[in-house]
Amino acid sequence: MHFHILTLFPDMVLSGLKTSILGRACEKGLLSIEAENIRDYTKDKHKKVDDYPYGGGAGMLMQAQPVFDAYQAVLEKRAGAKTARVIYVTPQGRLFDQSMAKELAKEEELIFLCGHYEGIDERVLEEIVTDYVSIGDYVLTGGELPAMVMIDAISRMVPGVLKNEESGETESFHENLLEYPQYTRPEVWREKEVPQVLLCGDHAKVDAWRLARSVERTKRQRPDLYEKYDLPGRALLWLKQDRLLHMDMLENIRRGRARVLCVREDGVLLQDKGNGLYMVSAQNRDAGERLLSLTEPEGAEYVCHQRFLADSVAARFQKETMQVCLQAAYTRKTPFAEDLSYEIRALDETFTEGIFAHYHAFYEKEKLRAFLKEGVIYGAFLPKEETARKETETDRTDGAESGGTGQVLAGFIGTHEEGGMGMLEVFEPFRRRGIAQALETHLINRTLERGETPYCQIFAENEASIALQEKLGLKVGAKKIYWIS
Ligand code: SAM
Repeated sequence: MHFHILTLFPDMVLSGLKTSILGRACEKGLLSIEAENIRDYTKDKHKKVDDYPYGGGAGMLMQAQPVFDAYQAVLEKRAGAKTARVIYVTPQGRLFDQSMAKELAKEEELIFLCGHYEGIDERVLEEIVTDYVSIGDYVLTGGELPAMVMIDAISRMVPGVLKNEESGETESFHENLLEYPQYTRPEVWREKEVPQVLLCGDHAKVDAWRLARSVERTKRQRPDLYEKYDLPGRALLWLKQDRLLHMDMLENIRRGRARVLCVREDGVLLQDKGNGLYMVSAQNRDAGERLLSLTEPEGAEYVCHQRFLADSVAARFQKETMQVCLQAAYTRKTPFAEDLSYEIRALDETFTEGIFAHYHAFYEKEKLRAFLKEGVIYGAFLPKEETARKETETDRTDGAESGGTGQVLAGFIGTHEEGGMGMLEVFEPFRRRGIAQALETHLINRTLERGETPYCQIFAENEASIALQEKLGLKVGAKKIYWIS
């Protein structure tokens, strides 16, 4: 990895960076660190690089020309630098952290620009800088220390620089945890003993002890960091307090669709990665308000798991449509024996018009086409002869004939993007003969095959559907959830 530093104090950065671990990495050719003295490029005969700011004000500013020419010199020396990111270290930048260090360590070449005095003429920054990065909310006299701090942290992530490749994995900030306490010889010092578990030789026990201490320490010393630690795991734990009420959120996380935005002791907020749907549950109004303030309401839909959240979303974001549902889940692992009197198979996009004719309240045609392409909508087919007796004008327009196969589509079912079973529709002439049940058991079986828990959301007043779920052995929750769009 190649670092270039544009600075007024090349000796300061080079002497600091070319010692110890980074010095050895440079010798081995894993890193190269070069500094370009901006002063060497000034056209001023007195070697001046700064001037007074236009409009007055305190201090001096570094001029554009020497900075730009120093940058050009780096590009001329190294072809690879032409596409390199140029980082201006400034208190006004994005805050540097371990994840940024990790991200920057993937680059082959980086250019750092160090300011001095009151900073640098804005025009050259606009011309060359790609990233503005700060090392903390305080002001230093120059950018050399920040550049050194960043280069040190980034270099440790470059393969081979640290002797033990693993140490980056166990250190502070890995997965948003602080490191556990560590001990070295002697075993007893000033009557303080090393924790016994570290001497037992059982790696699993040592790992478990270390993880517990890391979590404990992070919670106590850096609650802000702990809030980001293992969000999915902590969200699952919280949501499991009421599995049925939260089945949609639990499944959304387990199926890898959830962006877990916040986990508190009194609530969880998720967002579906695919359609942006917010899913939220809270123990009280105050927690709910805090969670909702993290959402971006523009064009968003919400599933609220408490009435007070639904009211709050409606009032806060001027959203109106509210659908009240119950959740039902099939919590057993055993699949159903499938009803072989109907052929059930995934529908392809040639069924778009037919499905859209029956199911247009919730999705636009193109969305349904996408579902059909994905193969998440299943249709039940009957042999054509059997349906001939029942055919009427409307059946024909159901468009249900399956081109040349001698079969007619009698109904369909699908899985909504965020994970619930739904879209169940059996066409009028084919109702009351078990097709809905056949479709649902088929979909339950396919869902179980993927290791997922089948669930659906039913309109709270739809007694027929509630009865069907109960008949199939799904547990129907007593608490309501609220869809708001
Ligand atoms: N007038 C500038 C402001 O208020 O944003 C501060 C200039 S500071 C005295 C001089 C230089 O030090 C900056 O141009 C920048 O390169 C560097 N610097 C100071 N504090 C920094 C920080 N917290 N992070 C990164 N760079 C910093």
